[in-house]
Amino acid sequence: MRIEFLGTGGFHPNERRHTTCLMVPEIGLVLDCGTAGFRIAEHLETKTLDLFLSHAHLDHICGLTYLVTLPLIQGVEKMRLFGVQNILDAVRDSLFSQAIFPVGPPFEFHAFTAGDTIELANGIEIESFPLTTHPGGSTAYRFELDGQKIAYVTDTTVDGTYTEFVRGADLLIHECYFPDDNLEWAKTTGHTHTSSLARLAKDANVGRLVVTHVDPLNLDDDPIGLDALTRVYPNVTIADDGLTIDLAK
Ligand SMILES: [Zn+2]
Ligand SMILES: [Zn+2]
Repeated sequence: MRIEFLGTGGFHPNERRHTTCLMVPEIGLVLDCGTAGFRIAEHLETKTLDLFLSHAHLDHICGLTYLVTLPLIQGVEKMRLFGVQNILDAVRDSLFSQAIFPVGPPFEFHAFTAGDTIELANGIEIESFPLTTHPGGSTAYRFELDGQKIAYVTDTTVDGTYTEFVRGADLLIHECYFPDDNLEWAKTTGHTHTSSLARLAKDANVGRLVVTHVDPLNLDDDPIGLDALTRVYPNVTIADDGLTIDLAK
């Protein structure tokens, strides 16, 4: 199987990155649905989609409105949206309020409590974990595909609470919004800075790190000061939109 990085920026899109959205096309799994959500259409391989939200900030949900086209144009038969209750309530009551978007939500809502494990129809288990340092909180996920452990963590500071949750992951997909010289901003906004992520990747003994959800105000090839990371933990890639990770390789 492969993981498609459809959107790899935070906050707002820029000319290089749409906001965050990951997809595993073979099983119709989507993690977050930012402005890159429209790219789900070109990667579709299934008639059903299971979408998991980390939280309901706009850069993670605003692509959801595009999904109303998928049953009509692409023949998608069922979409399920998973998240903690207040996140799903916000999507239904705010994003899909009549004043903002006149078409009703095209998916079923499935609420869970952070910490739960959700079993999908294909037998894949998605484990969740509550993150508390980002305003309003966020949810981390981990699951296994092709015998590889994958963890997805975004919109949080590295606070030590979820080290065990990501320990031993073959692939850790983690946000890094700020380089170390913006440390104070990272704390204020509840985001990760580079050297804290380096320590996490090393301490948790992950096999590979892919950095996503980077600052859209910086369009450089290296928006996070990569040296501070590779000095401590070398096996890292900064994702761009269009990155594909083939788990079989
Ligand atoms: Zn975000
Ligand atoms: Zn956020």
